[in-house]
Amino acid sequence: MSALPELWTHQPRSVLAFRPGRRVADIDTNATPGFRGEKAGAPELQAERNAAFAELQEMLYANGKAAGDHRSVLLVLQGMDTAGKGGIVEHVVGAGSPMGIRYRAFGVPTAEERSHHYLWRIRNALPPAGLLGVFDRSHYEDVLVVRVHNLVEPAVWAPRYDEINAFEKELVDAGTTIVKVAMFVSLDEQKKRLAERLERPDKHWKYNPGDLDERQLWPQYQQAYQDLLDKTSTEHAPWHVLPCDRKWYARLAVTELLIEALTAMRLSWPPADFDVEAERARLRAL
Ligand code: ADP
Repeated sequence: MSALPELWTHQPRSVLAFRPGRRVADIDTNATPGFRGEKAGAPELQAERNAAFAELQEMLYANGKAAGDHRSVLLVLQGMDTAGKGGIVEHVVGAGSPMGIRYRAFGVPTAEERSHHYLWRIRNALPPAGLLGVFDRSHYEDVLVVRVHNLVEPAVWAPRYDEINAFEKELVDAGTTIVKVAMFVSLDEQKKRLAERLERPDKHWKYNPGDLDERQLWPQYQQAYQDLLDKTSTEHAPWHVLPCDRKWYARLAVTELLIEALTAMRLSWPPADFDVEAERARLRAL
């Protein structure tokens, strides 16, 4: 059911894993690492793998609900504007059952959120047992936008890398599998996507004039992403570096990362905690 399709020459988990020494500036955002298929075959493969993911995700939910399994999965999506986070949520996570998914997007902190430690709102959004949590942006904004815009002093954000590592270790030890995906598009591709948002009235809602200001800060963001990857890619919660110029590839890859994470949990359907035969007999008699 969940064997990796032959079009993948390498496990996405390993081919996309961030390796020490890798430079953000050198990422080929147009590449399709580990995959030898073409765009033409992607929709069919995506549909097939969506079904495999959906079954596993339902199993995770069933175990949380009916078998007292305390485990959960947390997908962390980070990326510059237009990288395609929304598309992953819609076309990959959206294949699953909403009952078992907890989606949370993190924007500019509210006044209440600002009055707490930066991990407060993160802790409040963590997936309970059996759920797949999805963070559309995350605690990593607190070492990205916060750093690039000097929202706090370096003495405040610099210790956050270690703090985040410790926080994630705590989550993993408590039974959460964390799948971290850093999404990268080229500046050219970003320009195309922003232009499309301006062209199409059905995409105006996605356009934010502030995106152009962020775009100008790409070198600073690149440095912030480099440090983030260097400092927070741990054994317990490794980063995956995802080239996103080809949306079809990015979606297939994240689907496989989720399937891999769920498969590693060795899930099965929870056994009945009642006598199935006896219940069948009772039902027949009614
Ligand atoms: P998106 O751009 O993902 O569609 P929004 O328009 O709500 O969603 O933008 C979210 C904005 O909130 C981004 O510019 C992001 O950098 C910002 N943001 C997220 N977390 C923080 C934070 N902790 N501090 C400051 N700004 C943040």
